[in-house]
Amino acid sequence: MTHFKYVIIGAGLSGLTSAYYLNKLGESNYLVLESRDRIGGRIFTKNGIDLGATWFQNHHEMVVNFLNELQLESFDQYSKGKSILLYDPNRPVHYFESDPNAQAAKRIKGNSVSLIRRLSQSSMDKIKLYTIVQEIIDKGDHLKIVTNKETFTASKVILTIPPKLVSQLQFTPDLNISTKKILASTPTWMEHSIKVGITYEKAFWRNKNFSGTLIGQSGAVTELYDHCDPTTGIISLMGFVSENLREQNVDQRKKIILDYIANQLGTEVYNYLNYEENDWSKDPNTSNSLLTKFSRTHNYGHPVMQESIFNDKLIFSGTETSQLNAGYMDGAIYSGIRSAAHWNKPYFSNANSK
Ligand SMILES: Cc1cc2nc3c(=O)[nH]c(=O)nc-3n(C[C@H](O)[C@H](O)[C@H](O)COP(=O)(O)OP(=O)(O)OC[C@H]3O[C@@H](n4cnc5c(N)ncnc54)[C@H](O)[C@@H]3O)c2cc1C
Repeated sequence: MTHFKYVIIGAGLSGLTSAYYLNKLGESNYLVLESRDRIGGRIFTKNGIDLGATWFQNHHEMVVNFLNELQLESFDQYSKGKSILLYDPNRPVHYFESDPNAQAAKRIKGNSVSLIRRLSQSSMDKIKLYTIVQEIIDKGDHLKIVTNKETFTASKVILTIPPKLVSQLQFTPDLNISTKKILASTPTWMEHSIKVGITYEKAFWRNKNFSGTLIGQSGAVTELYDHCDPTTGIISLMGFVSENLREQNVDQRKKIILDYIANQLGTEVYNYLNYEENDWSKDPNTSNSLLTKFSRTHNYGHPVMQESIFNDKLIFSGTETSQLNAGYMDGAIYSGIRSAAHWNKPYFSNANSK
């Protein structure tokens, strides 16, 4: 059984942020365990399409500062030309133009995966993929972490997986009932989303003076945006699929989506290069069968998620635990820094980090 000073569970944005900060501290005695076959968690770019997180705002200071530190650039969401608002598919559409002086949502150049790639550069050799954590046992002076493969021991554990999935892990001794209830009833941010992305040779919609923005709550795609990236040169549209289409098979859903967009932007829609979609609710690394619609009465940043357990050997982390911008990438970074700082406060207060 291999022992580590720190084991970080989950190689999403918050887990990788903690690893990055431990590295900055000169700490090399850590391991990151990840259940998927890839790093990044809910940041997932496939063939140039952000199927997970895409945008941030200027007030997301953790993201802005991190991009500066990692020397990554950003750009404004494209919104020139006519945008379409479709209240009811049986009634005429409304066209509107964005105010060029309004603050635009920002995107990361090279897609959101660039952040994950840059962030993980210094910890790639410490990440174990395909490793599903199943049980955490308090052994007094250390914790035992049982996975589908090996068992590890650690002095300290940073647990970044979404709270409702934490509630399914086995703990010995068990978590108290009220903590378990709070974790189990905390929805994973965006777990209900189905994202779609379609790539093209040319941004035909721009040539027709369309921005690519198509909003319509009753449509097959509730929100669609121009998703071209100046760094990769990949030309695409990306959006959120109506949840009414969740139970359709992929081919049926694809046809309904393409027909819907073609009705608004033109038949060029059918001449695509690549079609991608991802239903996050079907991914056991993000969601479970207790799919809960996001409600304002969530438990994000709940006080029980701020308390360490097992005599200060385990801390809860991840965006849902964050008291700042929970759900967003900003919250994931905040929680990742907070967790790495938990046992290393002097370093962080000197570095003037939050
Ligand atoms: C469709 C969608 C769109 C989004 N859009 C935006 C956006 O535009 N802007 C924005 O700011 N945010 C957005 N978000 C949210 C953003 O993606 C998250 O805030 C952020 O990525 C969360 O990072 P995290 O590390 O906290 O969690 P996660 O990324 O979920 O990381 C947790 C990790 O733990 C792993 N794991 C799970 N179970 C186990 C286990 N048993 N053992 C080991 N590992 C395990 C998972 O595989 C995952 O890699 C979006 C999310 C989705 C799904």
